[in-house]
Amino acid sequence: MSKTKKILLTDKQMPTRWYNIVADMKNRPLPPLNPKTKKPVTKEEMSVIFAEELIDQEMSTERYIDIPEQVQDVYKIWRSTPLTRAYALEKALDTPAKIYFKNESTSPAGSHKPNTAIPQAYYNHKQGIKHLTTETGGGQWGTAIAFASQYFDLDLKVFMVKVSYNQKPYRKLMMNAWGADVIPSPSTLTQAGRDMLAKDPDCSGSLGLAISEAVEMAVKDPETTKYCLGSVLNHVLLHQTIIGEEAVMQMEMAGDMPDIVIGCFGGGSNFAGIGFPFLKEKLTKGTDIRVIAVEPASCPKLTRGIFHYDFGDTAGFTPLIPMYTLGHNFQPADIHAGGLRYHGAGAIVSQLLKDGLIEAQSVPQLETFAAGLTFAKTEGIIPAPESTHAIAVAIREALKAREEGKSKTILFNLSGHGMIDLFAYEQYFAGKLQNYDLPDSVIRASIEELDTIIK
Ligand SMILES: *Cc1c(COP(=O)(O)O)cnc(C)c1O
Repeated sequence: MSKTKKILLTDKQMPTRWYNIVADMKNRPLPPLNPKTKKPVTKEEMSVIFAEELIDQEMSTERYIDIPEQVQDVYKIWRSTPLTRAYALEKALDTPAKIYFKNESTSPAGSHKPNTAIPQAYYNHKQGIKHLTTETGGGQWGTAIAFASQYFDLDLKVFMVKVSYNQKPYRKLMMNAWGADVIPSPSTLTQAGRDMLAKDPDCSGSLGLAISEAVEMAVKDPETTKYCLGSVLNHVLLHQTIIGEEAVMQMEMAGDMPDIVIGCFGGGSNFAGIGFPFLKEKLTKGTDIRVIAVEPASCPKLTRGIFHYDFGDTAGFTPLIPMYTLGHNFQPADIHAGGLRYHGAGAIVSQLLKDGLIEAQSVPQLETFAAGLTFAKTEGIIPAPESTHAIAVAIREALKAREEGKSKTILFNLSGHGMIDLFAYEQYFAGKLQNYDLPDSVIRASIEELDTIIK
């Protein structure tokens, strides 16, 4: 009998609910705090910048939340995504382990990010909001929210860090194709941008500044304009659980269940998306399953950071979030996995790590690219530099299974493809990429700064 390579769900079989892991956590995450009062942030405070239903989801303890039909309809453009058995990769590694991956690269934007962009646009539209603002670094979030905004008649302004705007035209062009207005940051549209340009007309921008501009724009007109964010927050993680809800069904159809689930980790959204629905069995029934978050060795908040209240952004605008962090002023090395260069981790994921319910590993840059190419040569797909981190640990675990002579089932999330990141591969081929040693003293200095800011 010929082997089954991939499993898809029909439109009718698709999950119709997101899973909220908070319902099953013994220790729930601590609340976000207002940085001025140090009191838990209220719904009123949050509603200045976010849509009401998104804030309800942010604070919800309901186990399941229905996916609105209008959102399901847009999901169906590319969902379900395939659950694929990586036979060729297994063979190349000569491992007894079975390796599966969930392929989130099949979305129009090429990553998992539209899973949350679509509902965020939908809930804003439903509330009568007309304009959205956001920021983007490399452009992955910007493309996803541009794609989503046009479905729900929202006009979108994306503040894109100027250096990326100039160096990475392709994602900007994708955003334009979906009707978004992409503005290099710093811009003259906001006070924050004008102040910076007055100080330094050649300023090439930063993510922190782009956030300041996007938030300022939203706050100016809270009746019709809201801001949105592509990772870290609870409601973003919630929306991403569509990945794992599908994968649980698909693994059952394959007659298998993973011993190990792996996702790369920036702010935690794709990791939570694949991991939480599997972790549910562990939290509620004590099932033995390892769920591993993979971060770059050069930005190791989970493996070398501390658990502390910190700002969610580099500019110090957001509430204080209880998180594993390197300090919001930490400057990660300029690695190509731009989506993983984030100083902290979402509150839920941080609590789970603190309680020993998930694991974390870090991988140096050169190992990730080598793993990405092994995957491209065997399974055909050129992965995003972020996703190569998950692949690298899947390979580590598969090789360990070979050494131990044990058959294990490994599932990882392929969070995106690398077709718009080929420049990174070019650098790798040319031998221009390197690993970055990160001395303890650098991490300590950044964390000490945190203690003086946040008492
Ligand atoms: C943004 C991004 C990530 C990192 O973000 P998370 O919120 O941690 O998932 C990972 N992979 C890809 C392809 C991305 O675009």
